[in-house]
Parts: sequence; structure tokens; C-alpha cells
Amino acid sequence: MMNVNMKMMNVKKNVVASAARTHQSRSSGAQARAGTPSQCVFSAGARRPAPKATTTRLSRRANVLAQAAGKTLDRPLRVAVVGGGPSGSCAAEVLAKGGCETYLIERKMDNCKPCGGAIPLCMIEEFDLPMEIVDRRVTKMKMISPSNREVDVGQTLNEQEYIGMCRREVMDDFLRRRAGRYGANLVNGLMQKIEGGEGEQPFKITYNAFDGENTVGVKTELEVDVIIGADGANSRVAKTMGAGEYDYAIAFQERITLSDEKMKYYEDLAEMYVGDDVSPDFYGWVFPKYDHVAVGTGTVVNKTAIKQYQTAIRDRSSEKCSGGKIIRVEAHPIPEHPRPKRVSGRIALVGDAAGYVTKCSGEGIYFAAKSGRMCAEAIVAQSEGGKRMVDEGDLSVYLDEWDKKYWLTYKVLDILQKLFYRSNPAREAFVELCDDYYVQKMTFDSYLYKTVVPGNPLDDAKLLVKTVGSIVRSNALRKEASVV
Ligand SMILES: Cc1cc2nc3c(=O)[nH]c(=O)nc-3n(C[C@H](O)[C@H](O)[C@H](O)COP(=O)(O)OP(=O)(O)OC[C@H]3O[C@@H](n4cnc5c(N)ncnc54)[C@H](O)[C@@H]3O)c2cc1C
Repeated sequence: MMNVNMKMMNVKKNVVASAARTHQSRSSGAQARAGTPSQCVFSAGARRPAPKATTTRLSRRANVLAQAAGKTLDRPLRVAVVGGGPSGSCAAEVLAKGGCETYLIERKMDNCKPCGGAIPLCMIEEFDLPMEIVDRRVTKMKMISPSNREVDVGQTLNEQEYIGMCRREVMDDFLRRRAGRYGANLVNGLMQKIEGGEGEQPFKITYNAFDGENTVGVKTELEVDVIIGADGANSRVAKTMGAGEYDYAIAFQERITLSDEKMKYYEDLAEMYVGDDVSPDFYGWVFPKYDHVAVGTGTVVNKTAIKQYQTAIRDRSSEKCSGGKIIRVEAHPIPEHPRPKRVSGRIALVGDAAGYVTKCSGEGIYFAAKSGRMCAEAIVAQSEGGKRMVDEGDLSVYLDEWDKKYWLTYKVLDILQKLFYRSNPAREAFVELCDDYYVQKMTFDSYLYKTVVPGNPLDDAKLLVKTVGSIVRSNALRKEASVV
């Protein structure tokens, strides 16, 4: 992150005040049917049929608003996606396939996002990811308690099941190129400013283009009808639309190369450490990557102590990682909850920009890709394949569907984090609970497949008793500890 920021500052300093030029659309796919952005004319047209009714209050509001919009366009709907991470690339792919004139603006085409790179199994099939981008298949996981009690989880996995470990630079590059193959214009540029967008006016996006050998950047303008902010936790799009702030955790990670012998231990194994020493509110991890391990931790409650927690996770894993060489140090914010506003006018936020990382597990890649896809699907559907103008109501359809699908998942993980990461006795209880076969099965199934798996009522009842027992015991231990 620090490297990227330095580069951004240099770029800003060096911007040449060259005459602004308008982006030329590529004559392929959907773009071939489009005029250049500056030639676009809106034409009044017949109203579209009302979108399909859903039951929530927001949906009803969205439908009413949607009926008032939707003028027929004499050229495809123009959508700019700012940010070419998983959320942006997955959005751009759907938009381009769906008939919209799509621009995917990414400041750094070889961006190496600080990330553990763990993805659930379902993502590979759902997003049609090739196996080459999965460096390692993790089939074993160790949960390690504050007293260093180790519990092996993953025993419930069958031979086909695993957690995929990826390098983000590889995965993001693949997803971006694929969006390009489907007709999205890939723009190497740093988005700087958004203007316009009032009423039916188009937006004017100003970005610094880094075409070809040009590393200094050329000030460039682009006119679009809709903007998707997929520009991550420090989203400039979110700031521009007044989306409001969110709490964030700071995550710190070191990439460490190990000897072949040490690496063998982590071949298909990941470790999660819990304890006040490694984080007051999260966990520390050792994840196996292509030719190294990623060792990291995160916190929201005491960000200034992040280096101290990183030292602790290095110490806790030192026996297995001894002699390793740190090849990269990285840090980045992780959103704690969705922003107060995720859609405003014809701008929508997805992925980290919207705040879609789950508590407890800190998982964001799948939810970024999924939210990008769902937002784009709503735009394609509401614009009838890019033929009609959309408005805030149309974009809100995506929010309705998102909240309906995932609200409970976020809530449950939030409660689990509050319950089990609050003290060392609670963490001991948590690790103890992870030893249960049924807990492992339910946890892995819901992580790997992103569906709430219906459980066995008898086992659910036993689990409830066990959980309550663990919590009561952890509370008693906490009281004892505070008396001593
Ligand atoms: C240390 C760490 C470990 C993590 N580990 C995991 C894990 O193991 N598994 C998991 O599921 N999640 C993990 N996460 C979370 C995960 O990394 C994010 O949730 C995910 O990257 C979000 O994807 P995104 O596309 O929304 O945003 P990002 O991946 O942040 O992509 C945003 C993109 O926008 C570009 N951009 C930003 N500003 C501009 C601009 N002005 N103009 C043009 N382009 C711009 C950036 O270069 C970047 O490519 C981790 C996070 C951290 C910090």
C-alpha cells in the first residue's frame, strides 16, 4: 500500500497540464455500436414495463422511481467502473456482455493488493476461474488458542473440497483481461474527479491516463451515464458522492519465504492464531502462498499497536517460520461495515468501497466479486441491455437484492466476533468449540459454498448447549482472571 501511495503522489505532482482529451471508444463488441462519448444524445422514448415486483419497502420505492426514468437511448448506456480489483472487473464483465458501453479504469494494471488471497471453493465455479490462478489448495487448518492449544479443523472436507489460495496480482489480472475480452474498455488511469450527473446530465470523469510508456500521465476526460465505485477501502468515488465514512480495521501482513523443508509443513495447511497478544479483536494468520507464506494480523480497536501485534504473530509462529526471509511488508484498511450510503443518483458502490468485508473471518474477495456482478446485473436488467437510461431507483434494486441475500450472514459473523474475540477465555472457548465435528461441518459448508446450510435439529440443539456452556465457562474464567 505504501508503495502505491508513493507512486500516486508522484503522479499527482507530475501531472502535465496538457489539453484534456476525450477517451476514444474501442471499435469492438458493444463499443462498435456506440458513438464516441462526446457525441451522445438522449432521446425521449416510451416507458419500459415496470420492473419485477419485490416485497421490500426499498424495492417498492425503487420500482416507483424506476418507472419515472428509462428514456430510450440512441446509443448504449455508458458505464464507468472505477477500480479494477475483483469487484470492478466482475462488474465490467457483466456490463460489457450485457450491452453497455463499459470503461474499466484501473490506476495500476499490475496492482498487488495486500491480501491473504483465500477464496471459497464456490467462487472458482461461480466465477469460472481457471485452476492456474489457484496457487495452493488448503485442506487443513489449525486454530491456535491463546494458550497455544491447537485444534485441527478441516477434517470434514471431502477430497474435492479446499480453500483456494491465490496471489491477487494474478487473479486481478485474469479478471480484468477477461472483462476486456468481453468488450470492456480497459483504461490504465487514476480517477481524480467526477463532475456533473445532475438530472439527466452525463458525468464527466477526469483521470490521469498512463497509456503505453507514459508513466507521468495525461489528463483525460470521459463522459458516462453511470458510475460504479469499485475503488477499494479508500474510495474516491465514495467521497465524491458523500457516501459517509465507515469504521475500518488496519491489516498488516508480511510475505516470508521459507526453506523447502519449512514450506512443506504449510503445503496445504493454514493457521489462525487468536489471543490478546496477536489482536484484541481479530485473529493472526499464516497462509501458504505460491512460494512463500503470508503472516499477518489486523485490528480495529487499537490500530496504533498493529506493529506490536505483528511482532506477536511472528513470535507465535516463529518455530515453524524460523530462518524465513521477509520479502514484502504491506498494510491496508479493511472496512468494518457498509457505508451509510451505497447508491446516490447514478453512482453505486461495490466491494470494499461499499464496505462488504465480513466480520470474524475478514473475508472480502468473494463478496467484492459478487457485489460487482449483482450491481452490473441490475443495471443491465433495468436498462434493458443498455438501451435505456437508469436512475437511483434502478441502482437501488441491486442494494435490495444484496441486503436480502447477505444481511443475515454479516449479522451472524458480527455477533460471533463480538462473542468469541473479546477476551482470552472467550477465545479459548471458541477454539474448544472448533474441535466439534458438527461445528466444523457447518462452518466450512457455509464458508465454502456461501449458503446457509440447513442443519440437523438434534445436532443444532447439542451445539446450542455446547456454545452456551463454552460462553458461561469463558465468562467464569474471565471473572476469575480479573479477581486474580
Ligand atoms: C492484509 C489483508 C488480507 C486480506 N485477506 C483476505 C483473504 O484472505 N480473503 C478474502 O476474501 N479477503 C481478504 N482481504 C480483503 C480483500 O482484500 C478485499 O475485500 C478485496 O480486495 C476487495 O476487492 P475490491 O475489488 O472491492 O477492492 P480492491 O481489491 O481494493 O480493488 C480496488 C482497485 O481500485 C484501484 N483504484 C483505487 N483508487 C483508484 C482510482 N482513483 N482510480 C483508478 N483505480 C483506482 C486499485 O488500484 C485497486 O486495483 C484482506 C485484506 C487485507 C488488507
